[in-house]
Amino acid sequence: MARVYNFSAGPSCLPEEVLEDCAKEMMDYNGTGQSVMEMSHRSKAYEPIIEDAEAMVRKLMKVPENYKVLFVQGGGSTQFAMVAQNLGIKNKKAAYIETGVWAKKAAAEAKKLGIAVDVIASSKDKNYSYIPRVEKISGDYDYAYICLNNTIMGTHYEYLPDTGNIPLVADISSCVLSEPLDVSKFGLLFAGAQKNLAPAGVTLVIVREDLIPEPEACLPGTPTMLAYKTHADNGSMYNTPPCYTIYVLGKVLHWIEKNGGAEGMLKRNKEKADYLYNFLDSSDFYHATAEKGSRSLMNVPFLTKYSDHAADDEAAAAKEKEINDKFVKAAAAAGLVNLKGHRLVGGMRASIYNAMSLDGVKALVDFMKKFASEN
Ligand SMILES: *Cc1c(COP(=O)(O)O)cnc(C)c1O
Repeated sequence: MARVYNFSAGPSCLPEEVLEDCAKEMMDYNGTGQSVMEMSHRSKAYEPIIEDAEAMVRKLMKVPENYKVLFVQGGGSTQFAMVAQNLGIKNKKAAYIETGVWAKKAAAEAKKLGIAVDVIASSKDKNYSYIPRVEKISGDYDYAYICLNNTIMGTHYEYLPDTGNIPLVADISSCVLSEPLDVSKFGLLFAGAQKNLAPAGVTLVIVREDLIPEPEACLPGTPTMLAYKTHADNGSMYNTPPCYTIYVLGKVLHWIEKNGGAEGMLKRNKEKADYLYNFLDSSDFYHATAEKGSRSLMNVPFLTKYSDHAADDEAAAAKEKEINDKFVKAAAAAGLVNLKGHRLVGGMRASIYNAMSLDGVKALVDFMKKFASEN
């Protein structure tokens, strides 16, 4: 078995125990003679799977009683619209903090649906390398929106703005269950599963019950499938859910529980991130792009010294590209894959989600040292 260390930003690596468990049950799940992929979502065998997945989300995230836990489809990107259609219905006005691509896309989608979007803070001035400080949000906003962990820019909130009575909505796609989170501080949380929870195909939504409108009260034209109520009233079984993905999600949640729950994940993730950032901060060959005080534990973009050149220096830009390409290729040959950086940041990016081991990060740093000494 030649497993690689996979630093992909998403879909990303899953715990090996989970994959092995899935393989074991592939041909015959629990004496049913079927794979979970093949069974009816309304069957006696499947029901406990989705019920357990929800129960595990509630347990690990300490979800208060007055919140619904939903499994929907369409990825994080569909939530950009659903949030606006379901929550932006009173004053049709919302506050967004702009911290990079995903926050911008969410704001654009709301605008498209007729919401008056106020971008109340932005870190655009420094290519989104930090999280702006917004202590308090007030006004007649239907909701305030943040992207808690910015997958592309490698930034993360180390505080939460005080929004008073305004429901705080957060995209937690790339940091869900990477750390403890006080759900009661939020009106709505959502996470595409493919970064920290499961394969692609399911999106977790946690929403305060009183914020779920009747489908008719959503923005005009909201399709049945895009009303939270549709899913809340039907135990996420209004239509066929992504059955197999939810089954894997359940297994990942049990793996998280076995490894100390959200607190255990934070400890594990801090250890990994500290190891990598400490190396980056002490290196004169590499540097992290995210500012201290805003750094993600999950996504670590970094550049080399070849990136420090004037924007119009074409020869230096070509050399930078050559070094980056060489790094990514050589790393892959050494079993460290998917390290190419996002084009908006350049360089490299190591995504070190829950399932990535400290050994994987150590192997990466060893490789980086060797590469630096040879280049
Ligand atoms: C990946 C990602 C998304 C987009 O998720 P899809 O499921 O591909 O639509 C949205 N927000 C964040 C923070 C992400 O990391």
